[in-house]
Amino acid sequence: MGEVAFECRSLGLPCEWALRAGSRAEIVERVREHALCAHKMSELAPDVLERVESAIHAA
Ligand SMILES: [Zn+2]
Repeated sequence: MGEVAFECRSLGLPCEWALRAGSRAEIVERVREHALCAHKMSELAPDVLERVESAIHAA
């Protein structure tokens, strides 16, 4: 199983935060934490979650 990666700017945010993880589930969890503290989101809305899912790619 390869690593997967995600860049916050793929959500259209002016943010350089990016990460790699071993699974898509881990990415989603880390993005949730990041969105809460860095972007003041109270939760990941369904449409945001969908965009996160589609922006996750092989590292
Ligand atoms: Zn960000």
